[in-house]
Amino acid sequence: MKLLLFDVDGTLVSTGGAGVRALNRTFEQLYEIPEAMSAIDPAGKTDPAIVREIFHERLERDCSEDELQTVCQAYLRVLPEEVSQSTQYRVMPGVTEFLRVARSRQHVMIGLGTGNLEVGARIKLERADLNDFFPFGGFGSDSEDRSEVLRIAAWRAQDRGGCGLNREAVFVIGDTERDIEAGRKAGMTTVAVATGHADVKRLRRAEPDFVLSDFRDAAPLLEAIEAA
Ligand SMILES: [Mg+2]
Repeated sequence: MKLLLFDVDGTLVSTGGAGVRALNRTFEQLYEIPEAMSAIDPAGKTDPAIVREIFHERLERDCSEDELQTVCQAYLRVLPEEVSQSTQYRVMPGVTEFLRVARSRQHVMIGLGTGNLEVGARIKLERADLNDFFPFGGFGSDSEDRSEVLRIAAWRAQDRGGCGLNREAVFVIGDTERDIEAGRKAGMTTVAVATGHADVKRLRRAEPDFVLSDFRDAAPLLEAIEAA
């Protein structure tokens, strides 16, 4: 059995900044902080880790668990509107076709491995009708640690019939160096795709097992997955 775990932002879709705008609105509403995300690079981080970073940067203190929950709930209330109104929202090239082909292969399971809160990930994928491809996953709502998120996704795959799943047979697919680091730390196979945060040259420096320019370029990866 093989498992493919997909990052969301910059890998499957770009929301055209909807997530950033939703977090900005949240911090404006709750703490009267404008442009809270201006000093933050969210790429490859979990949502709770991003919220904590904003607290440190802008409020110069830790956030409590209650505050974290309050911020996340407020963010999830404004996110649907930001995603639906985003003029730059798009699905990355070749994604839908790749998911269709991968899903049709025997012994291949597909899930999410993302720093997004689960509800947030579902909102972002809903606009492109991609949620059906991902019956399960690991999320920022499961852990603030990106490699723990991936391990949780793999456990869920085992529960769903992926018994005997080796860690090397888990392919972690993402657009940032942080996705690659997290996958490697979890002992999994790493695939970088240059549709989001970084170009091919920059991603290669992080030494992923595979690099794609985009999913139109993924036939060799599918062969490698089948051979793994
Ligand atoms: Mg990403």
